[in-house]
Amino acid sequence: MSVETHRDKKGQLALLPAAFFGACPQCGVHSIFGEILHSNPASFMPKCKNCDLDYSSFNVGDGPAAFLTFIMGALIVTLALTVELSFYPPFWVHIILWVPFTIIMTIMSLRIAKGALLILEYRNQAKEAVSDDVKVMDGSKEGNDA
Ligand SMILES: [Zn+2]
Repeated sequence: MSVETHRDKKGQLALLPAAFFGACPQCGVHSIFGEILHSNPASFMPKCKNCDLDYSSFNVGDGPAAFLTFIMGALIVTLALTVELSFYPPFWVHIILWVPFTIIMTIMSLRIAKGALLILEYRNQAKEAVSDDVKVMDGSKEGNDA
């Protein structure tokens, strides 16, 4: 499976492959995240190393972390209970299995979810509302009332 098979008509990667590979939404270079072992593995780089797109201007918030807590918690507890009730292994087997699995799955799913949100913010030009946006809304409301 190559990266090139997932490009759309505009030459952009589809959302999930782009998020999985951490592709810059502007140029497509894999630069949203740094090296996994060199820094906080799920934090954004300050800017794209190829096109200088400022990643610090995007605000994905805590949405991915809160959402993934429920998904990962349910998945890992289900798997641990299944292993326990099927094989009755000693407790150290659970530690060896679930601690690394939890760490790896958390990092990978956070990178995918945060990358997807950043890419969606860029593609939809999403941003916080400023006072000018509110004034426009007030003006249209007055126009409807008259
Ligand atoms: Zn870029």
